[in-house]
Amino acid sequence: MKYALITGASRGLGKAIALRLAKDGFTVIINYQSNKEAAEDTLKQVQEAGGTGELLPFNVADSQAIETALESWATSHPDDYISVLVNNAGIHEDNLMIFMQEDQWNRVLDTTLNGFFYITRRVLKNMLTRRNGRIINMASLSGLKGQPGQTNYSAAKAALIGATKALAQEVAARKVTVNAIAPGFIATDMTKELENDELKKLIPLGRFGKPEEVAALAAFLASDDAAYITGQVISINGGLYT
Ligand code: NAP
Repeated sequence: MKYALITGASRGLGKAIALRLAKDGFTVIINYQSNKEAAEDTLKQVQEAGGTGELLPFNVADSQAIETALESWATSHPDDYISVLVNNAGIHEDNLMIFMQEDQWNRVLDTTLNGFFYITRRVLKNMLTRRNGRIINMASLSGLKGQPGQTNYSAAKAALIGATKALAQEVAARKVTVNAIAPGFIATDMTKELENDELKKLIPLGRFGKPEEVAALAAFLASDDAAYITGQVISINGGLYT
């Protein structure tokens, strides 16, 4: 069994990635925070397509909850390890800096950046021992170019990119690769209020991306074919300037 843990896999990009990795032969561990119904639907779709999966809810910003969940997973899977980790869970709480509240700043950083740290350090141990692993971090165009009204989100994603590059160099000798994906506008719950013709006109390909298109990129990075790619940030944005 090859296991892939995808955080935030109840909806959006994480769901599409879980479905795709299951199709590619991974047993997918579907993480979510609170939306059990949506997570169960992801699992159902995985199984209906002939794949295997399981649910593992925890808040990625809660280090203790992560420890407990991953410890209990390890106990129930004594001979297995997670060989693919997709740090996908993320939120945005947009505000101009001048109005930004401390809790808005902290929640976004806690989820994206601290979440990456808490989960990755725990899952990394076995990848290093087994000399095999793929870590894929969901960054954003905002983390590359900065987005007004999103200083918290842009900072979190830019920091995630820095961490991706540093960790890639730390663990390359053990055949663990670490890469980031930087999507532009992809049609999910996160962007449904933004999808309009004005915005689409700014995108050279003239449309929002589909979650399945991001999932195809994640699947490639998780595959053996991507063994020589590490420390990279791969944009998927319909040609928007990065
Ligand atoms: P989404 O549709 O809002 O889905 C977010 C997912 O993350 C849900 O499964 C949610 O779980 C989970 N989640 C949120 N906070 C969590 C927490 N603290 N612990 C565990 N799970 C948590 O978002 P999306 O558009 O798919 O975005 C996925 C990732 O891609 C994010 O990191 C986002 O920043 C990044 N991204 C998205 C776009 C885009 O255009 N959509 C562009 C660039 C980057 P529940 O269902 O339980 O709430």
